[in-house]
Amino acid sequence: MKDLYARLGVSAEVCDCGEGILKTLEDRFRQADAVAEYNQAKVLAAMQKNRVGASCFAATTGYGYDDVGRDNLERVYADTFHTEAALVRPQITCGTHALTVALSANLLPGDELLSPVGSPYDTLEEVIGIRPGACSLREYGVSYRQADLKPDGSFDYDAIRAAVNEKTKLATIQRSKGYATRPTFSVARIGELIAFLKSLKPDIICMVDNCYGEFVETVEPSDVGADLVVGSLIKNPGGGLAPIGGYICGKKALVERCAYRLSAPGLGQEVGANLGLLPSFYQGFFLAPTVVCGALKGAIFAANFYERMGFRVVPDGSESRHDIIQAVELGSREAMIAFCKGIQAAAPVDSFADPLPWDMPGYEDQVIMAAGAFIQGSSIELSADGPIRPPYAVYFQGGLTWYHAKLGILLSVQKLLDAGLTKLPEA
Ligand SMILES: *Cc1c(COP(=O)(O)O)cnc(C)c1O
Repeated sequence: MKDLYARLGVSAEVCDCGEGILKTLEDRFRQADAVAEYNQAKVLAAMQKNRVGASCFAATTGYGYDDVGRDNLERVYADTFHTEAALVRPQITCGTHALTVALSANLLPGDELLSPVGSPYDTLEEVIGIRPGACSLREYGVSYRQADLKPDGSFDYDAIRAAVNEKTKLATIQRSKGYATRPTFSVARIGELIAFLKSLKPDIICMVDNCYGEFVETVEPSDVGADLVVGSLIKNPGGGLAPIGGYICGKKALVERCAYRLSAPGLGQEVGANLGLLPSFYQGFFLAPTVVCGALKGAIFAANFYERMGFRVVPDGSESRHDIIQAVELGSREAMIAFCKGIQAAAPVDSFADPLPWDMPGYEDQVIMAAGAFIQGSSIELSADGPIRPPYAVYFQGGLTWYHAKLGILLSVQKLLDAGLTKLPEA
């Protein structure tokens, strides 16, 4: 094994150090396996209940009328998320699109959108109209209010109470921290927030941005009162196989509106050809619990390895996990580059490429990204990125298999060592 790792670029010292750290993580990995086993059974039960068979995998084109495989996949999602309905489509191009459809379908002129958890994910700023942009919700007469989190990352219930008014129609709750420094919320905490919102206003629609959170726990936000849960298929639920797509699960009346918004009023869920993508959607969903488990182990291993070398990591090495993202504060531009070179060098695709910081459109600071993915931009595959600014944090996520995530982390450590930017911890 060590010879092979040496050929891949990892020294015996780094291997040994990694094995030492792994010995301390056996309980954590067992817990992750138990969650994966539960979620695997949950997905299997949904597939069996809905009698998934070969006829579900047939390609449709054109309008996609009577697409039995597409309709059945939506029942499988609905049963897995314990919701009345689901919309799962390749016509939903990404997570931002899925969230945009859910918001614009369920907010009308004069309504107000509330984020009770501080600022939303970057790309939603233009959707909402926080940053001006054509076709924003704001342009259509939907106002926006935000209650920030308290400094310790907890919900500011007084601020939320003050923000809810007669116009408040929908609350958007982002589960994952994304590229912010706040904690990711557990499903249980999201449940508490939803209960509070409904106590203030019983008919408020609670939507959860579930990106990066699916299958990390045995429950999903829809199990604790969320009316809509939304995410991307090139993250967790696509299992690395879905080449595009998004999902919206929730109350039937709300999901129906999403379908009308996605296609056209009157058409809704009846149209939308699957273009031959259903085998990857079904099989990806089937694999998703174990893929997420592998990514989670990678995040836990990275947190513990980098923490032992003296870097600040978020979440820390012992915290419980509610998404698959790991932030590592590396303290310098050089260290970010070295880290990303390690991740890139471990990839099955484009391992020969050299990641460098660049001026990415829409970002104030230079950004560095490492990704060698089968599906472009897929962040359930092993990837790392971050803006080049203090505290010089890289956000590390994904890994279709735990062993690949492990190699990526070992190589990132190796590159930091080779550049003289860190020392291995004492055994
Ligand atoms: C990835 C992500 C999104 C959507 O991003 P896309 O790149 O459009 O898929 C939204 N919210 C969060 C928290 C995310 O992580």
